[in-house]
Order: sequence, then structure tokens, then C-alpha cells
Amino acid sequence: MISPALTLAHSAEPDTSLEERYGAHNYASLPVDLVRGEGVWLWDKRGRRYLDLMSAYSAVSHGHCHPRLVAVAREQIGKLAVTSRAFHSEWLGHFLARACELTGMARALPMNTGAEAVETAIKAARKWAAVVRGIPDGQAEILVMENNFHGRTTTIIGFSSNEHYRAGFGPVTPGFGRVPFGDLRALEKAIGPYTAAVLLEPMQGEGGINIPPPGWLAGVAALCRERGVLLLVDEIQTGLGRTGARLACDHEKVKPDGLMLGKALGGGLLPVSLFLASEELMQVFGPGDHGSTFGGNPLAARVGLEALDVLEEENLAERSRDLGAYFLEQLRTLEHAAIREVRGAGLFIGMELDPAWSSAAHFCEALLKQGALSKDTRENVVRLTPPLVISRAEIDIALQKIRAALDSLEPMSGEPSDR
Ligand SMILES: *Cc1c(COP(=O)(O)O)cnc(C)c1O
Repeated sequence: MISPALTLAHSAEPDTSLEERYGAHNYASLPVDLVRGEGVWLWDKRGRRYLDLMSAYSAVSHGHCHPRLVAVAREQIGKLAVTSRAFHSEWLGHFLARACELTGMARALPMNTGAEAVETAIKAARKWAAVVRGIPDGQAEILVMENNFHGRTTTIIGFSSNEHYRAGFGPVTPGFGRVPFGDLRALEKAIGPYTAAVLLEPMQGEGGINIPPPGWLAGVAALCRERGVLLLVDEIQTGLGRTGARLACDHEKVKPDGLMLGKALGGGLLPVSLFLASEELMQVFGPGDHGSTFGGNPLAARVGLEALDVLEEENLAERSRDLGAYFLEQLRTLEHAAIREVRGAGLFIGMELDPAWSSAAHFCEALLKQGALSKDTRENVVRLTPPLVISRAEIDIALQKIRAALDSLEPMSGEPSDR
């Protein structure tokens, strides 16, 4: 699989003119035109090969075009792909059963994108507040974290602390309060009589790969139980092996009332998401209360089921734990002046740079020239989140490319800053 073009420089001359001309300019994509993927590798149209350190924000945890996933998708797409939930279909029950079995949740509701799973959780929590807790309709409050990222719908961006995600898109949906991430005392103080739920990411992805203090999540779970408040955990990015456990919740043996999965659930092939919940929470939905035309279609259910089976049978969570520990340890030995901190859990790693040396976006361009792809999150954090099928030898290649990219940097100002 080694392309002769590998020796060519990875220079930036993509043909993006049609995207530029006809697309909305809502992404600042790196200048590379990808045409093929296999495992942890991607190829551009000139045949140049790149190591994927991005995994499409964890959607490609199984690696590109995993042969088992491609095989079941091919078979299913030629047999039955979309029926709508107006009828029962062959794979949905098996998919939901496996997802419940692996997460310890009672029931699951299929959607497509992550944001839809989060919207489902919000609707479930509000209805539960009204029918179970007796909170007057329209008064229920959901507490979220500073620096959260739960998607891009109008309701979700309304409770973002990121001004850029929100600015100009008002009016915002009321009914949300924000507390600092990782601060149990602040959460305790914020819970009021109409607080129905706490919605959080157990580790923040888009917020900058933020790992909370040990014990925080278990403390939140205990607090929620004590106060009769639902705990809704968004594992759309951290779930399915990414942080070195099947769920990030498993690190602290936390069992939430509601759980959101997405991204890797589609096996890197198509959008598949789930809202999973306890019996008490899911029973608030009756026919007509919620739905999705494509949610739970036979193709998505078949691929989602296979994605869960591959995760287990290839021990992707254990690989993520062991290889992530190795990657993190090796990154910490790089000791380049441009690196301010390296943090993470499993193959969910962020490298924070000193802005006096380089912005994370600039570093990602330098990395592209070395033949590795990633993207910045926040201004100074570089995301290092390869597919979980990566090998140790490929991590060593990643380290060489990261070192070469660091060595190509020159401090942007004379004095490295100390903040
Ligand atoms: C990506 C992400 C979402 C949104 O998923 P989409 O499929 O883009 O709608 C929600 N929550 C978290 C934690 C995410 O990382």
C-alpha cells in the first residue's frame, strides 16, 4: 500500500474552486483534497499519503473503510436501506438491544446526528420534569457546563459559552444555566427547585480536550441522585473506546439517567446516533412525541450493530487505553519550547501550544506539510485523536511527524509568553 508518490513533498495545491464558489463558507478547511482512506491513512488526489490524527472528530474511530463495516453496509444497501419507523424492520431491534447491553441502559431511541441525540435528551428531560417531577411546563431548567459543545442547533448553541457559536443567532431558547466544568461546589449551589437535569460531557472535546479532576463525575452523579435531578451524559465524542474505556463514564463507574452516542457509532460510514435512557426517563415518550424519518433505518441499524461488535471484538477500548498511554508519554518527552501542556485519556489527546510560538491552526498546517492531518480546537490546542485501530509503529510515525512540524516552527514573537 506504499505509494511511490510518498516521497513527494506534501504541498498545498488543492482544487477547492467549486467548494469555494458554490459552498457556504462555514468551514476553514485545510488545503488538502482527499480521495481515499484505509485504516489510519488518507490519500489525496495526487496519491500523497497522510496519517489521520483527527478521525473526523472521532467519527472514524474504527479507521477508514473498515472491511467488516464496508461488507455489511454493501450487503444491506443492496437489500433494504430505508423504511421509516412507520414499519418494523430487520436490524433495529438487534442494534438497540446490543447498545443497551453494552452501556447498561434500559432503552434506546435512534436518531442520526449527535445534535439530534442531544435534542432528544433535552426533550425527554423536560417532559420528565413535567410528568414525573411535577415542575410546571415551561419552568424546567437544565444545567450545562462552561466550554460545553453539544452541537449546532438553535437550542444547543443558545446555551454555549462560546460567543462565536452564538453571536447573531438569537433569540436563544430559555431554560438553561451554566456552571464551571469540573467544579462540584458550583454545581451544588446552582441546583434549584426547578432544576430537572444536568447535561455534560465527561471530558470536553471541542472545549479543548479538557479532563476534569478525578472524582468530579462520580461526585456529580451522587449529587444528582441526592437532589432528584437527571444526569444526562453526552458521550458522542468520548464514547465507544475513545478515552480508553467503553464509555468515559466507566472510568468512574458512573451510570447516567440519559446517555448520548453518535460519531463512531456509524463506524465511519454514515451518521448514526442514539439517545439511551433509564426506563423511568424513556417512558415519557409515547407515539408522536418524537421521531426522525431516517433514524434507525435498516442500513444505519446494521452498520451501527456491526460498529459495536467490531469495537468489542477488536478490543478498541483497551487498544485506546494502552496506545493512548504510550502516545501521551512519548509526547511528554518531546519537551519542545512550543508545547505548553499535553493532556488526555486514551487516544483522546490535546497538545496545548504556547501562542508566542504558534497558533494551533498554524501548527496543523505545518503538520500537513509533514503528511499528518489534524485540526485545532480552541486557539491553542492541537487535537491528536487517531483512529483507535492505529498501531504502535504508526504512533511512532506520528511522533516523528509531530517533531518535524515542531522543528519547522519559529517563535512568532521574540519572547515566548509565560501565560
Ligand atoms: C460532535 C459532537 C456533537 C454533535 O454531533 P453532530 O453529529 O455534529 O451533530 C455533540 N456533542 C459532542 C460532545 C460532540 O463532540
